[in-house]
Amino acid sequence: MNHNDQGKSFLASVDHYFNKAAALTGHPPGLLEQIRTCNSLYSFKFPIRTETGYEVIQAWRAQHSHHKLPVKGGIRYSADANEEEVIALATLMTYKCAIVDVPFGGAKGAVKVNSKDYDVEQLQRITRRYTAELIKKNFIGPALDVPAPDYGTGSREMAWIADTYQAFHPEQIDALGCVTGKSVGQGGIRGRTEATGLGVFYGTREVCDSAETMLSLGMDRGIDGKTFVVQGLGNVGFHAAKFFTEGGAKLIGVSEYEGAIHKQDGIDLPALMAHRKETGSILNFPGAANLPRREDGLELECDILIPAALENQITDENAPRIRTKIIAEAANGPVTAAAEAILQQKNILIIPDVYINAGGVTVSYFEWLKNLSRVRFGRIEKRFEQAAYDRILSLVEKEIGRALSADERSLAARGADEADLVYSGLEETMITAFHQINEISKRSGVENLRTASFINAINKVAVSYMELGIFP
Ligand code: NAD
Repeated sequence: MNHNDQGKSFLASVDHYFNKAAALTGHPPGLLEQIRTCNSLYSFKFPIRTETGYEVIQAWRAQHSHHKLPVKGGIRYSADANEEEVIALATLMTYKCAIVDVPFGGAKGAVKVNSKDYDVEQLQRITRRYTAELIKKNFIGPALDVPAPDYGTGSREMAWIADTYQAFHPEQIDALGCVTGKSVGQGGIRGRTEATGLGVFYGTREVCDSAETMLSLGMDRGIDGKTFVVQGLGNVGFHAAKFFTEGGAKLIGVSEYEGAIHKQDGIDLPALMAHRKETGSILNFPGAANLPRREDGLELECDILIPAALENQITDENAPRIRTKIIAEAANGPVTAAAEAILQQKNILIIPDVYINAGGVTVSYFEWLKNLSRVRFGRIEKRFEQAAYDRILSLVEKEIGRALSADERSLAARGADEADLVYSGLEETMITAFHQINEISKRSGVENLRTASFINAINKVAVSYMELGIFP
């Protein structure tokens, strides 16, 4: 399948999931069509100078739904990017924001380049030119459309975007809110880098804590001791693996661009990262077996499989060979609709992308709020809280007749700083969203968590349109 066909198949999968859920909502067909369809698509080309002359680069920004503004979604740098893929990803963003109650419509952008083919100077030129094109068409701005990192981009690109936007809008006091995922020094928020991976952890842990769900899978409750495999050790995959291992789960397999490895007694993640930095590859990691093909990592027997690379990774071709009990879709669209049907027959639980990787956009929302308010979370109340806890602890000391140790006191009397608040806001969001989805799943008799998530999203977007008076 070529990349355009892959994009079509991805969009077809998203439409399939939508239609399946929409049929269970009872909303009128016109309203459902408005919720399904992509509202605006900007497809454009621009030149950049290279050592050998000029190169014309294809790029897109899709705004899937304007039911809430701004719209929000990452920017992907990938040689495989195509229009259908961008629309599919923008569509998922609308549903994702609705599921975690982030008041944005969905969007996504892409630049058809492999970032590894360009030096930093060229990438900076590409990013600034892409931003300038978005500015020209009003496709970026804190009140309009707020990009973020995605596959192939990170805080560096986000800083270039913010700087370019500010240069065009020097009078705009909240200009930094035109993009999220910036480094903290550039107006970012603590916790954004790891947010998607941490959200995958919080969400999966909640699923594993559900006695009913674990019983249906024939597993013990809790994440502790569960084995897991990760595909893609990039931003999302690395951080997910980090929080899973810190939470007591055992990493037994990794699949990356260059190949896959397996080590049943557990892979030491920091050691693997150091090995990859030193050798340029995860292969030949001491104590681990190299697998013949990188896709083989997906087929290792484990409790939890975390595809965290790209879409269309588990298809009807390899689905029969998947040997996990749970798939946590850290990437967008890693399982095709045809594969899902096979996995369901095998009683494999899919925690869907629209819910499980929503940690990134949740913390992006916090970053945007910070940029609009121009104050760090916790700055105003931290000391006040600390002093209040101190006073309570003094009363406790009197009551128990002994002085608390310095350690006890500092642990109990600590005021929350920005990172504490971000982590706690993210944890609350992921837990609340799971229970909403689970409730819908039970109420409507839909076992599939993806369908339940889509029903939840469709209902929330429908309410927005109805409140606007556009639909009865
Ligand atoms: P990234 O570029 O940081 O990492 C992707 C990793 O996958 C890279 O290490 C790459 O080498 C690896 N990879 C590529 N093809 C592979 C293959 N065939 N097999 C194994 N590994 C492969 O990207 P990211 O930001 O971590 O995004 C990964 C996925 O998560 C994407 O689907 C993205 O849309 C989704 N996502 C990202 C965020 C975010 O905050 N960054 C939020 C939500 C969803």
